[in-house]
Amino acid sequence: MREIKYIVIHCSATKETVDYSFSQLVADHQRRGFKTCGYNIYIKRNGQTYLGRNFGEELAHAKGYNDNSFAICYEGGLDPSSSPKDTRTPQQKQALISAILFCKLLAPNAEVLGHRDLSPDVDGDGQIEPNEWLKSCPCFNVKDEF
Ligand SMILES: [Zn+2]
Repeated sequence: MREIKYIVIHCSATKETVDYSFSQLVADHQRRGFKTCGYNIYIKRNGQTYLGRNFGEELAHAKGYNDNSFAICYEGGLDPSSSPKDTRTPQQKQALISAILFCKLLAPNAEVLGHRDLSPDVDGDGQIEPNEWLKSCPCFNVKDEF
């Protein structure tokens, strides 16, 4: 088993008003040259959870972290005008907790964080602040919740 240091939360960066199915996600990732979905878990707005890439395999979700992390993605993250927003439904929040607990069973010491928390610490103060985020993903503060 790879040594897993992080459990990284993503959003699909799709509008909350748009349906983005697991098969669309897989197709989009394959179009980008990935062999299949780059994440381990995908969570639809209704809470339905899909298993993407196998937990023993290297991922394709965040450069420099694909071999030492698990990745969970929820559907949404943008409001109808494409601005970043925490669009998670109650069902998604519940499913996200389950998904994180499952990952924690496999990697008890892994730190749970958001994609944007992997941005470089430009001013070197030990914290990744909003002005340092390369992306907004996953559009909520993971460390406040988990
Ligand atoms: Zn992301």
